[in-house]
Amino acid sequence: MQNGIVFDIKRYAIHDGPGIRTTIFFKGCPMQCRWCQNPEGIAKEPEVIFWENRCSQCDDCLNICSYDAIIKKGNTKYIDKKKCNLCGECVKVCSTEALEIVGKDMSVEEVINEIERDVIFFDESGGGVAFSGGEPLFQHDFLNNLLKQCKERDVHTAVDTSGYCPYQAIETVQDKVDLFLYDLKVIDNRVHIEYTGVSNEPILENLKKLSSNGNNIVVRIPIIHGVNDNVTHIEDIADFLLPLKNIKEINILPYHNFGVSKYMRLSSPGMVIENFPEPNDIIDEIKKIFEKREFIIKVGG
Ligand code: SF4
Ligand code: SF4
Repeated sequence: MQNGIVFDIKRYAIHDGPGIRTTIFFKGCPMQCRWCQNPEGIAKEPEVIFWENRCSQCDDCLNICSYDAIIKKGNTKYIDKKKCNLCGECVKVCSTEALEIVGKDMSVEEVINEIERDVIFFDESGGGVAFSGGEPLFQHDFLNNLLKQCKERDVHTAVDTSGYCPYQAIETVQDKVDLFLYDLKVIDNRVHIEYTGVSNEPILENLKKLSSNGNNIVVRIPIIHGVNDNVTHIEDIADFLLPLKNIKEINILPYHNFGVSKYMRLSSPGMVIENFPEPNDIIDEIKKIFEKREFIIKVGG
């Protein structure tokens, strides 16, 4: 069975679907949301990342790298991915843990072994596994094989997706997914392209198809200051969702400002991830917009 690239496994997660969950983070995402809080999940390959706030500027990493893959710019270091072969020597020599290899090639069996350790918590809490990222549907064959194994073990499955993929990727997995956590940012396509780098047309079309197929869906809306934290944008989303079936709940996710340190550790100089101000005074108004249309609303995941 095909392997996949995973960049984190989080146990005892309580915001990724009902109950206690083990969340598997897939590496690779076709979008680049400017507020991304897991930017290490964007590139699809394993990579070395740099934490500027941990670095003592000893330069031991520069000296040990035989491939000249580390570029120093002021107090920041970038890794030239074309030169880096992920040998890990820089990570070993760094005494302050300022360098880290993110992303691991894992087999389906290895991931399932990790999931099986937590089955007792799933049973007690009504939880299960959540597949997140990055974008889990970006590796849909790997995801599909994991879902099959989960269903054989009667483990509840949630998939946290941006919906930005060909619908065939969703079709491959939808009969094995108990709950889709479907992210929706903004209906105005011009704004969507500006802040995520891609059109929302496939996202909206895929959501319509998924809802008519009968899958359980929780729609998750990140509220980002200056992007969608106004009544017009939110009413557009509410009106789009109103005729759709099987929307079990809407989660309003106010953006929190803890992405800064992650921004500092990105290895790709060209990547545009920004730190946005937190939204304020609008969350109650947003709740009312959805409640007026009789949606079940939760603030937070
Ligand atoms: S990343 Fe680590 S090894 Fe490299 S200069 Fe900083 S502290 Fe030294
Ligand atoms: S992982 Fe190896 S090749 Fe890549 S930057 Fe570190 S020492 Fe150089």
